[in-house]
Amino acid sequence: MDLRYHLTFIDEKPSTESPKRSSSEPPGQEREQPEEARHVESLWWRAAALGARSVGSFGHPELCCRPCVHLTRNGCPAAEECLYCHLPHDVSRVSLDKRSRNFLEGLRVGAVLAVVLPALRQRMDRLHPEAAARAKELLQALEPEAEVIPDGANRRLQYRLGTMTFAGLMGLLTRYTSDHLADQAREALHQMRALSALCRC
Ligand SMILES: [Zn+2]
Ligand SMILES: [Zn+2]
Repeated sequence: MDLRYHLTFIDEKPSTESPKRSSSEPPGQEREQPEEARHVESLWWRAAALGARSVGSFGHPELCCRPCVHLTRNGCPAAEECLYCHLPHDVSRVSLDKRSRNFLEGLRVGAVLAVVLPALRQRMDRLHPEAAARAKELLQALEPEAEVIPDGANRRLQYRLGTMTFAGLMGLLTRYTSDHLADQAREALHQMRALSALCRC
């Protein structure tokens, strides 16, 4: 099946030959190769062209991009090539208040992980199976780096995190952790969206 072929391609490509990988580096940890990223993107755009919705809508509502502001006016000029979500978001995305943002800003990377990873894990069963498998891989890689939940991570913050989408929570990892972890989170989200595009969900 075509879809299966593409998904297999994405899953298997990184773990096959990779001449630059040192013998001490565990498999599956290396960065996505640029050619592969381009390949994923071309599949993604092709999938978008087949559907009536936009590129940014794939993975809705957990993995999609922000809702498109043009849709509420005279339609979106970018149509299906729009990088924002064209599907209705009945529950507006809850973002963090300033106090919570300042709190996360002041934490060490391990403490940010301790706060955000449990919320991501709770959200995982809302993803379709291929994206959930990729999410699980990311969480397993990051969890050993999490410290104990810091003082001040109160119920209000936990509640707000519990209302955020998977993509929204991933955004916190890209904003409040190290450059290295931010790259990992971005790459994983990109792949999860591509997988959503391929299965058109
Ligand atoms: Zn959406
Ligand atoms: Zn749009």
